[in-house]
Amino acid sequence: MDDTKILLTEKELPEAWYNINPRLPSPPAPPLNPQTGKPVQPEELAAIFPQGLIAQEMSMEPWIEIPSEVHEVYRLWRPTPLCRARHLEEALGTPARIYYKNESVSPPGSHKPNTAVAQAYFNKKEGIKRLATETGAGQWGSALSFACRLFDLECTVYMVKVSYEQKPFRKSLMHIWGAEVYPSPSTRTQSGRKILEKNPQSTGSLGIAISEAVEDAATHEDTNYALGSVLNHVLLHQTIIGLEVQKQLALVEESPDILIGCVGGGSNFAGFAFPFIGDILEGRLEAEVIAVEPTSCPTLTKGLYQYDFGDTAGLTPLLLMHTLGHAFEPPAIHAGGLRYHGDAPLVCQLVKEGVIKPRAYPQNPCFEAAVLFARTEGIVPAPETSHAIRAAIDEALKCKETGEEKVIVFNFSGHGHFDLASYDAYLAGELEDFEYPEEKIREALEHLPKFPTGL
Ligand SMILES: *Cc1c(COP(=O)(O)O)cnc(C)c1O
Repeated sequence: MDDTKILLTEKELPEAWYNINPRLPSPPAPPLNPQTGKPVQPEELAAIFPQGLIAQEMSMEPWIEIPSEVHEVYRLWRPTPLCRARHLEEALGTPARIYYKNESVSPPGSHKPNTAVAQAYFNKKEGIKRLATETGAGQWGSALSFACRLFDLECTVYMVKVSYEQKPFRKSLMHIWGAEVYPSPSTRTQSGRKILEKNPQSTGSLGIAISEAVEDAATHEDTNYALGSVLNHVLLHQTIIGLEVQKQLALVEESPDILIGCVGGGSNFAGFAFPFIGDILEGRLEAEVIAVEPTSCPTLTKGLYQYDFGDTAGLTPLLLMHTLGHAFEPPAIHAGGLRYHGDAPLVCQLVKEGVIKPRAYPQNPCFEAAVLFARTEGIVPAPETSHAIRAAIDEALKCKETGEEKVIVFNFSGHGHFDLASYDAYLAGELEDFEYPEEKIREALEHLPKFPTGL
């Protein structure tokens, strides 16, 4: 069978998102109000999120219908192809069959618009005029700018200053889609001004930019906040990925032995893996599920499983997750994204329960994998995506040793067309591998809020 590119028709685009919550072995731990230590009530979130998304955040419905307005926008690029990486298999000489789900075909170039479009829609529906958000390298900011444009919302993006200065082209993309973009820390918010007072040279961090965007939303009636990862509703929207993959594998009568995704905050991984994990939990599938992160930000492999803030200033509710501490500052020498101090609570819970196996790689072996992928399959991967590719290649090489014909499926979360400077650095041999030092991790962990590790 010609199964190099497995395509679905628009009619086969899933009609509902897949909610893992009611299928978990134990109920998810609630977010806590840091003042009271009690579970956050829906009304406490209403200052920054629309009701539609708050309901999804807490929903125990197994399926949540995709509104037709969102479905209509998804059809601009969905369903996305599932591809057999035959050239890569040949180069590796592996008996394994490697498939990748290509989320890089969306207009902003990653999986992120799957949730950006849904979030813009639910905010628009409830009369919100503007969304505020943060962005690191600019993928989330550009995805939300695109989505806001389609639903006629204004969009304000706080972009981590070091990226604002070093990665100007995603900023251009945001401007094309009509967003306003500020380097963070900025003087527009109290959180930003406080950081600048202490350190006028601050180059920013994701945690600081989140504080600024949350404050902007909380202090403006017509403005809400949008987060590109971590929260349950974000992971929910991304499940369109895994649901399509299930249909596509069924078309070629394959069943996955190994499922792989990279993890920054956990959304592309969860969206890809959760429908399969549901099958594993319900005994219909046996497969290994691998979450891959960088050794420079080893949240799942080295972090503590504890309640912590989602941002630096401590404005968000406390989430039970693996964390390196909200005071964690990612090393500047790291070229490749995935630099958040925490991870999605749902992903962390499944790691804790042993369903998901976490793994960490240094950046050089990841770029090596990315370049091999580009030279065989043709597409230049995002540095984040390269972590998943490294793991897929390593698993395929294991199969070469054992002769096993495993089916390896990974999520190709995005392309690297705006990350070429980091490829130049890699090709020039200028990238350093970096293990985040244990004492730095211990130091950051000392700033954790004093709350119980589970309820
Ligand atoms: C943002 C991003 C990631 C990491 O975010 P998750 O929420 O962990 O998915 C991974 N890959 C690409 C291409 C991204 O843009």
